[in-house]
Order: sequence, then C-alpha cells, then structure tokens
Amino acid sequence: MKITIIGGGIVGALLAYELSRYAVDLVVIEKKHDFGLGVTKANSAIVHGGYDDPPGSLRAELCYRGNQLYEKLAESLGIPLKRIGSFVVARDTPEEMEKLSELLKRGEKNGVDGIEIVEKPFLEKHEPHLSKEYKYALHCTHTGITEPWTVALAALEAAEKAGAELLRGDGVIGGEVSKGNVRSLELESGRIIETDLVINAAGLYYHEVANSFGVSTPQVYLRKGQYVLLDHKASTMVNSVIFPLPSEKGKGKLVVPTVDGGVLLGPTSENMPDFTPEDVSTTLEGIKEVIEAGNELIPNIARPNWIVKSFAGLRPETQEKDFFIENSNTLKNFVTVGAIRSPGLTAAPAIARYVIEEILEQRMSLDLGRQKADQVRTLKSFRVNESDLKEIAARVKDDEKYGRIICQCNQVSEAEIIEAIRKGARSIDGIKFRTRAGFGRCQGGFCTWKIAKILSRELNIPLSEVRVNEEGTVLFDGKVRV
Ligand SMILES: Cc1cc2nc3c(=O)[nH]c(=O)nc-3n(C[C@H](O)[C@H](O)[C@H](O)COP(=O)(O)OP(=O)(O)OC[C@H]3O[C@@H](n4cnc5c(N)ncnc54)[C@H](O)[C@@H]3O)c2cc1C
Repeated sequence: MKITIIGGGIVGALLAYELSRYAVDLVVIEKKHDFGLGVTKANSAIVHGGYDDPPGSLRAELCYRGNQLYEKLAESLGIPLKRIGSFVVARDTPEEMEKLSELLKRGEKNGVDGIEIVEKPFLEKHEPHLSKEYKYALHCTHTGITEPWTVALAALEAAEKAGAELLRGDGVIGGEVSKGNVRSLELESGRIIETDLVINAAGLYYHEVANSFGVSTPQVYLRKGQYVLLDHKASTMVNSVIFPLPSEKGKGKLVVPTVDGGVLLGPTSENMPDFTPEDVSTTLEGIKEVIEAGNELIPNIARPNWIVKSFAGLRPETQEKDFFIENSNTLKNFVTVGAIRSPGLTAAPAIARYVIEEILEQRMSLDLGRQKADQVRTLKSFRVNESDLKEIAARVKDDEKYGRIICQCNQVSEAEIIEAIRKGARSIDGIKFRTRAGFGRCQGGFCTWKIAKILSRELNIPLSEVRVNEEGTVLFDGKVRV
C-alpha cells in the first residue's frame, strides 16, 4: 500500500516515522523549501503537562500521552528534551486560588500524574526571581521543552532511512478522484504521485487541501502569537516554564527557557480578521504586551539590551477548539489531521499513534502489514557548543573543520554546517534550523556570508544562487567577488 502524507511539519513527520515501521510505501510532500518551517517553526516549544486541556477533548486525550511518548522519541531520534517542569502561578486571592484548584482538578480528570499545588517557600526556592506577588502555583514536574523543527527533521530522516520518499518545495494542488477514491495527487511542478491513501497534515492549509478534494472539514481561522526572544543572560533568572493563570484566550503569556539557553516571552493571542496564513509579522503593541507580561511574572527579565528578536506564529483554530482527526465520509482513502493547535507539538507522537490505531486500523479496517521489530534510530549530530574540550579536541584531530567556528554566538563549526548540508540543508535557513548557526545574539549578522560561501562551495553553485529560504530569496544580486 502506498501512503502519501501532505505536509512535513511535526505532525506529518511523526506520522511518517511511525508508519515507516509498517509494510507500506511512504511519500511525504512538503510545499515549502524545507521541512518543519510551518506552524512547527514558531511556537513556545513546550512539551505540555496535559492538565490544561478540556477533559473529554481529543486534545486532553493526546496531550499527556504525547508528553510521555517524548521520552522514547528523545532516545531514538536524539532530539533535545529537557524536563524542566512548570509553574502556573497565582496570587493569594480567592478568585485566583479557585482557578488554580480548578486547574488541578482538570489535570486529575485528564489522568495526569505529577501535579500539585505548591506554596511560596517552594516557589522561592525554585524560582527566586519570580515576582513576590505570586504565593501559590500548580507545579508540574513532567513539563518539558524541546526544539520542534529538530523533532520534525530527525523523524523524517529516520523515515527516509527506512525507505520513505521525501519531496519538498512542491505543494499538492489537487488530484484525480474516481469511484470515491483519490487515485493520484498533482503537484505544483506538474508531477503526478499515484497513491492508495492520503493523509492530509497540511497545518494551516488542511481546510484548503481537503476542499480541493471535495472533503468538508471545520472552517479554520487563525490566531496569532507574537514572541520576544531574550539573550542567554536572561536564563539566569528562570529555571522552569512560568505560566500565568489560563483564560478564555488560552494559556496566557509565558516566560519559557529554550533548549539552547535563551528565554522566550509570549505569545500574544490575536484572532486574525482574515485568513492570512503567511502573515507572521510582529507589531510594536504585540512586543510591548509580551514584554510587560514577562516583567510582571519575573520583574526586570526583559532588559532592553537582552532583547534579541521578535517573531510570530499562527494557530489553526476552529469553533470546536479541538483537533480534527477524521477519515472522510465522502472519499474512502482520505484522512485529515487538521486544526492541530496547541498542544499539537506535545501531542504529535500520540496523534501519529491515534491515526494508525484508531483511524486506519480500527475505523478504516486497513491492514498495514506486519510491524518491523524496531524503528530506525537517528544519531544526534555532534555540537561543539554542547561538548567539552576533550571531545572537541578528538573531533578536530579527525577533521580540523570542527575547530573552525563559523557562528560565534552559538559556537557552530564549519564541520557541523557541512554535516547539515549532507543531511539536506540547501539554504541559509536550512543550516540555521539544523545547526543553530545564526540563531544567536547577532542573528546571523556576522556569519551569514560565511555560511553562504560554504553552501556555494559544497553545493557547487554560484554565491548569487544561495538562498535564505524560498525561491527568489537570494542574498547577493549578480556576480560576487569575495
Ligand atoms: C503561537 C503558538 C504557540 C504554540 N505553542 C505550543 C507549545 O508550546 N506546545 C505545543 O505542544 N504546541 C504548541 N503550539 C502548537 C504547535 O506548534 C502546532 O500544533 C504544531 O506545530 C502543528 O504542526 P503541523 O505539522 O500540524 O503544522 P505545520 O508545522 O504547519 O506543518 C504543515 C505543513 O504542511 C505544509 N503544506 C501546507 N499545504 C501544503 C500542500 N498543499 N502541499 C504540501 N505541503 C503543504 C506546510 O508548508 C507545513 O510545513 C503552538 C502554536 C502556536 C502558533
């Protein structure tokens, strides 16, 4: 059986990874120039605890399960996972205390272990810089942080090693349907992909993709979240994920350490008036809002000279406020995995299992063939900035390019950049998201041109053809002399 997955975000990637151990042929189609650069690129990167989602919802069912599955995923794919825990903080008022106990009860209903309400001395010990206004908190020990695009890239690498075909830079624009089955998909390039089953994991575009096959899905609208990224220095002021109390608008504006040592403030929660899935612009008001909210939780964390950048992500929302994971009742071989809003990144490993076990095997009675004994594992790439001097010296002995540091902020060597190109990076962003070069304080100000030169040399293309990301985003115009 040939299964085609539309969308190479974290959901499509983990589906491909899980399906790659069955006796099926797999194709993953991504319209962007690289994988993991849709919603998966811009979010809080939290592996949520599972206590916040409405009991009885798919979100609640899959969040805690996904959180627990991350352990094995980190081991098999070498992805970063830090279980730093979280605090939802409350002031000493009857209203806030009631909200905190409701959250605890909700977590218990969701079957979540490892949560309890803690008092000031505990809070002060763990988060000494937290505002003194907060006297209580819901503490969750298994909340984690990860790097979502790394999860997607590693899962796809493993799926490819197991035989999956990965296509990128070529979106699905339609296909041929006959006798209630999708027979083939048509890509922007004109390429035709024959298929026996389609899984629509197109993120913000799931509704559009489903519509193009005449499949109806809940209408999607967008909710923007703006962030500010702070310098590594800010990480001395916070140890766990700090949440305010949740509201109708979501989990609130947080303070979140990142796996590479920075700190995120945000996100905002703004309903977008129109469907503008590529509008990830930030605004002065949005930036001010998250800075104020961050400073309210941890006074003085958002120092002006610690602010590195702002960015935004879009959540695919529906009236139902839940994931939409269904096989079509008009087409026999079409499954939609849509409306994957927060906590989609946490739930993604559980979503993949749910699609296989509940939708494909149970509801559609498909026989996916015998499971291979074990899935392909991938090795974490060597990182100079996570290694000690002895390890680095051993690497340099074999390859002096490990000693040539290209990105000074994040200490990324030339050898790591070459390794990223070997693994599929074809652009400045492709390198950035695989190695963290250009993610640091100078945001590529000093290293972009050096990375461009390495790309040009390794890919054997002129410098003027090196792209930042999508087609047309060249850095240099015309002949370049360096
Ligand atoms: C502000 C914000 C904060 C969040 N914070 C968290 C958090 O802390 N923890 C958490 O668990 N979740 C969080 N989430 C949710 C999480 O980021 C998403 O649920 C998850 O990334 C969704 O992944 P996806 O694969 O469904 O979508 P995407 O990553 O968007 O992947 C879909 C892919 O499909 C591709 N595509 C679209 N159309 C086509 C086509 N026609 N042909 C081929 N390819 C196509 C797109 O280019 C895209 O790459 C947050 C989301 C936002 C926006």
